[in-house]
Amino acid sequence: MDKKLIIAIDGYSSCGKSTFAKAIARELNYIYIDSGAMYRAVTLFCLRKGLINKNGIDTEGIKKALNDINITFVYNNDKGDYETWLNSENVEDEIRGIEVSNFVSRISQIPDVRMRMVELQRQIGVLKGIVMDGRDIGTVVFPDADIKIFMTASVDVRAQRRFDELQAKGENVDYHEIRKNIIARDIADENREVSPLRRAPDAIVLDNTEMTVAEQMEWIRKIIKAKLHADRN
Ligand code: C5P
Repeated sequence: MDKKLIIAIDGYSSCGKSTFAKAIARELNYIYIDSGAMYRAVTLFCLRKGLINKNGIDTEGIKKALNDINITFVYNNDKGDYETWLNSENVEDEIRGIEVSNFVSRISQIPDVRMRMVELQRQIGVLKGIVMDGRDIGTVVFPDADIKIFMTASVDVRAQRRFDELQAKGENVDYHEIRKNIIARDIADENREVSPLRRAPDAIVLDNTEMTVAEQMEWIRKIIKAKLHADRN
């Protein structure tokens, strides 16, 4: 039997990381973990508890609240997909909304939040046979990942994809607001002090501006095959 790999997929917002990561996990029969969903769930928790309000962000309150936050991924048979649960509530739809999107980059900058999430992510990683996507998976969470991919695509293509996705869900969205949110998140993710978005030196770049998912799959299959072959010999 082939060795079980850890595949790390990092990159900019709305690059199609999760679509790609899910497709790989399905093909290999691996577990897929959406690390962004974890930061989104923390953000939702903080919004609900009033730890993010018009006075700003209550960092001390958030630090204390971290122990009350439990995040799990539960498989939904009907959807054939994993969904994010926050303390025994399915929050999959709510964490994708614009309110959470507008605050998540600021919440994910808090060192204690990152420490706790990385700890949870590494616990899941012990299982092996996983595909995890995020911003710091190949650099911080799993620096020894077997395969590291760094994804990018043009801002316009990313904004259009996010717009289509939210509109399909029936959300009333404005293209320009989404585009602005993506640019703001890029800047916040690249410039934060703790674990900024960076390409790991050994990550392979995938620019999918003009690629379909099928083309991306064809591309990664070769990489996985070569890796498994190298590990066998
Ligand atoms: O991947 P997604 O866009 O859902 O992630 C939401 C936000 O969570 C990102 O904009 C980023 O601020 C944060 N994030 C992070 N580290 C990760 C994954 C996501 O800081 N590993």
